[in-house]
Amino acid sequence: MAKRVGLFGGTFDPVHNAHVALAHAALQALALDEVRWVPSGHSWQKDRAATPAEHREAMVRLAMGGEPRFVLDRSELERPGPSYTLDTVRALHAAEPGREWVLIIGQDQYAGLHTWRDWPKLLALVTLAVANRPGTRAAPSAEVLAWPHRVVPLPMLDISATDIRERVARGADISHLVPPQVARYIESHRLYRGLADGEPQPQGS
Ligand code: ATP
Repeated sequence: MAKRVGLFGGTFDPVHNAHVALAHAALQALALDEVRWVPSGHSWQKDRAATPAEHREAMVRLAMGGEPRFVLDRSELERPGPSYTLDTVRALHAAEPGREWVLIIGQDQYAGLHTWRDWPKLLALVTLAVANRPGTRAAPSAEVLAWPHRVVPLPMLDISATDIRERVARGADISHLVPPQVARYIESHRLYRGLADGEPQPQGS
């Protein structure tokens, strides 16, 4: 049987408990052999400057823990220019033919999918799996709805990276929102401290 591989992309700035829960739920619900975590290089849709990639990558590695079916994919970090999912998926198809690729996205991304570059070409190459996300009521476009896809059952976790950055900036607790190793990393590298969104983040480690 073809190996089924989940692709889970994001800015992961920072990675949080809902990301981890979603990746585990996708492994189970979709009977995936692997989930590839794909931190974005240059998110063309986010209007704030992301934290340097080395920090976001390090936090994703910590959050992946010891799960052997979680794999980090660095391709978007290595590719110059904006991170388009279609480019990533095309490269994976070429490098690893014969696999089934399952694109895992939250409902907010689903609602905006019709704005992604060449989205029909992308959906022709992947099976789409959508996770419910609290607070997101926006509906996907009718054209996107016409494509076959699955909704991944996921306990609704009302967590966002935006909220976590804001909490750290005002000195509030985030220990219930991110894995403990990620909380320690944020603390020791002084990420998100007192910096308003859009301002540059500390460089290097
Ligand atoms: P930000 O608040 O900075 O926009 P985020 O919390 O949405 O960040 P991303 O790294 O942009 O995190 O998300 C990566 C993927 O995980 C996206 O497909 C997003 O929809 C999904 N996702 C993030 N948080 C949740 C959540 N609480 N429930 C379901 N899906 C989520």
